[in-house]
Amino acid sequence: MARKSTFQSSSLIINDTTLRDGEQSAGVAFTQEEKISIAKQLWEIGIQEMEVGIPAMGLDECRRIGALRQALPEATLMVWCRMNATDIRQAAALGMNWVDISIPVSEQMMQHKLSRSRSEVLDELAEHVSLARSLGLRVCIGCEDASRSELADLRVVADLALRTGAERLRYADTVGILDPFTTYERIRALRQYWPLQLEMHAHDDLGLATANTLAAFRAGATHANTTVIGLGERAGNAPLEEVVMALKQCYGVETNTKNYRLPALCDFVSKASGREIAQQKALVGEYVFTHESGVHVDGILKDKNNYQGVDPASLGREHKLVLGKHSGRNAVRSVFASLGYQLANEQIDMVLEHIRQFAERVKRNPTESELRWVYQRLFSPQRIAL
Ligand SMILES: [Zn+2]
Repeated sequence: MARKSTFQSSSLIINDTTLRDGEQSAGVAFTQEEKISIAKQLWEIGIQEMEVGIPAMGLDECRRIGALRQALPEATLMVWCRMNATDIRQAAALGMNWVDISIPVSEQMMQHKLSRSRSEVLDELAEHVSLARSLGLRVCIGCEDASRSELADLRVVADLALRTGAERLRYADTVGILDPFTTYERIRALRQYWPLQLEMHAHDDLGLATANTLAAFRAGATHANTTVIGLGERAGNAPLEEVVMALKQCYGVETNTKNYRLPALCDFVSKASGREIAQQKALVGEYVFTHESGVHVDGILKDKNNYQGVDPASLGREHKLVLGKHSGRNAVRSVFASLGYQLANEQIDMVLEHIRQFAERVKRNPTESELRWVYQRLFSPQRIAL
């Protein structure tokens, strides 16, 4: 049932970072054609804002970012920048709408990554935000490692952002340590003194990235970073498909995305990244709308709502009934009827016995052609020799 909290915005804008954080996954490297195709598919699905690369990676990356700009003139494009004037000038030259200027905000990173004092770093940040603004760029301050920083330190960054004209803060759970309850409290606290756009960047190290993204939304986040199939550093980011579907299913929030096209996009990104989609991956895994056990199949056959939470049709998919070790008689009757064979009760028992042996031996469900073969073998007048 859809619920709404006091702080919740009415919608969440997705800023998909498949082409930046997603491509940072170890071993993932998209070609220019793949990058453009992914961006176009995202755009056609309804994702209007994307983070598309890192100018600091060099000329080749910049050329690709430029090609993306040409391919999608109307999309809102962002690049990730260090606190570096050259990066920021490149972003402007490439026609980007936004820069995410990243600044580590935790004591851990301030001391052990930058090895500089907080006031020095903040002075430098202010200069770079002003530079970006003077070049016509909109600025998101990417608060790296925000989840390990003190609220007071984030507040200083927020004050600086307001002073210098940055319009968005990115709250990055860089090392993926948050849970949804803590996320809610942190984002809600930040919301008390940050009135502009607030973007959640969740990592999935504990398998909580989607949950944390939803919690941030409930607490007042206006934007969220996602990646297709959850690509990204280490365990990856919040998967696009999960976030948009969960927003709709849990809160009735429409992201105006064509969700029926998500499986094809996931498949494309899986192939382009060389990362297989697990068979039980939420929403897009091969087996997530497949039913085998007797009780469930019987329930689905009577009324699909008996065992349906997410409607597979919303993703352009459908329920699939398969036969295996846990199948019951109704499932066998129904599946064989769909193959054109009407089985009598005693035939069903013979088939079931055969299928159970097959599943234990082969460790999978029999395919349609294997089921036809079973029928031929057991009941054809010219029975296939053993
Ligand atoms: Zn990240």
